[in-house]
Amino acid sequence: MERTFLMVKPDGVQRGLIGRIVGRLEDKGFKLVAGKFMQISDEQAKRHYAEHDGKDFFDNLVGFITSGPVFAMVWEGDDIIALSRQVIGKTNVKDALPGTIRGDFSAHTPHNLIHGSDSPESAQREIANFFEEKELVVYNKTLSPWL
Ligand code: ADP
Ligand code: MG
Repeated sequence: MERTFLMVKPDGVQRGLIGRIVGRLEDKGFKLVAGKFMQISDEQAKRHYAEHDGKDFFDNLVGFITSGPVFAMVWEGDDIIALSRQVIGKTNVKDALPGTIRGDFSAHTPHNLIHGSDSPESAQREIANFFEEKELVVYNKTLSPWL
């Protein structure tokens, strides 16, 4: 079982899409482990997007992600890192297919509604940047035998 860090970005919060985005993740069958509605700090944002430090869009990206509250989450499931990125859709809205969260709800590239970790290493680092271990809830989610 794998865990990933997913976050409704400020544009998703402002547009009132938290419920529908979380619904898509529930529909897929992923298991929610933690969730936090919060305003992230500049330092936390820079840590979160450290891999993009030095790129021309870095300052705008940090400005965007700190521009309003976000809904930070941890989800669990088999191969969830790859699968959740499929559900989210491609980074560039021109490549984000209908049926994906970005493809269905976003028409502007940096404002693409949701973040998802891209590797187990990123997931571990990003979860630790937003959550304490004790905030990750351990429980049984009853799945039918077919899932
Ligand atoms: P993803 O969010 O799909 O993992 P990246 O990690 O490549 O994509 O980029 C992080 C975020 O930075 C993107 O979701 C988007 O909001 C923004 N971004 C990516 N590339 C650009 C770009 N060329 N110009 C402006 N913003 C960008
Ligand atoms: Mg990324």
